Amino acid sequence: MPASAPLLLISNDDGIQAPGILSLIEVARQFGEVAVVAPDSAQSGMGHAISVGKPLRIFREQLPGGLTGYAVNGTPADCVKIATGVILDRRPDLILSGINHGSNASVSSIYSGTLSAAREGALQGIPAIGFSLCNYQHDADMHTAQEVATKLIAEALAQPLGPGQLLNVNVPDVHGDAFKGIRLTRQAVGRWVEEFDERTDPYGRKYYWLTGRFALMDEGEDTDEYALRQGYASVTPMMSDLTDYAHKTALADWDLSL
Ligand code: MN
Repeated sequence: MPASAPLLLISNDDGIQAPGILSLIEVARQFGEVAVVAPDSAQSGMGHAISVGKPLRIFREQLPGGLTGYAVNGTPADCVKIATGVILDRRPDLILSGINHGSNASVSSIYSGTLSAAREGALQGIPAIGFSLCNYQHDADMHTAQEVATKLIAEALAQPLGPGQLLNVNVPDVHGDAFKGIRLTRQAVGRWVEEFDERTDPYGRKYYWLTGRFALMDEGEDTDEYALRQGYASVTPMMSDLTDYAHKTALADWDLSL
């Protein structure tokens, strides 16, 4: 690669050896220099957690194609922090996270470690894209997701995303003619209805597995969930400013004087 080749930093939340990240690396290598810094173990559902009470360690990891990556014993957000703060000698042009094994559409974007790796980049002013496939299986077919990633990385480099701009990309688990294309979407309103599977351990004590089911509470046809259900990949621009501006305006009538 010429010295001017863009630097693409790749992370994920399923661990550095997950098939999804290997699929994303394969795609990204066509576009520039690739650096891989990812958790050494599964970190799904970690959201934007960071490690404040334990030391972080960096391990070299041999990846397919002769690439050396870096595994970190931390969260996805830790990985991006330590990548830009310690490992890399220049600033990445784009941060890619995924391809996650499982959807991160709608409110799942809040819990997602995949998206938080990308969001950490965005918080540092680096454009970032999180990719997720709507299939949790380890051996899921990544071809449609790779096609979408190829298109979006090309577009993100040709018409560069602005500093700190973040895209949440979800890909339906459909292939061939059943895959309809890519749509710009908004985050659907929905929530996880928690369900706890109660079991008993060998000592007679109860323990619980968090499962839950997703309840869509949005009939819009411009949402990520709608697009995915129609066979389209969804591209949702996201921001980290969590201020509820309409609510702030509504609260102007509150008497906050002491
Ligand atoms: Mn995951």
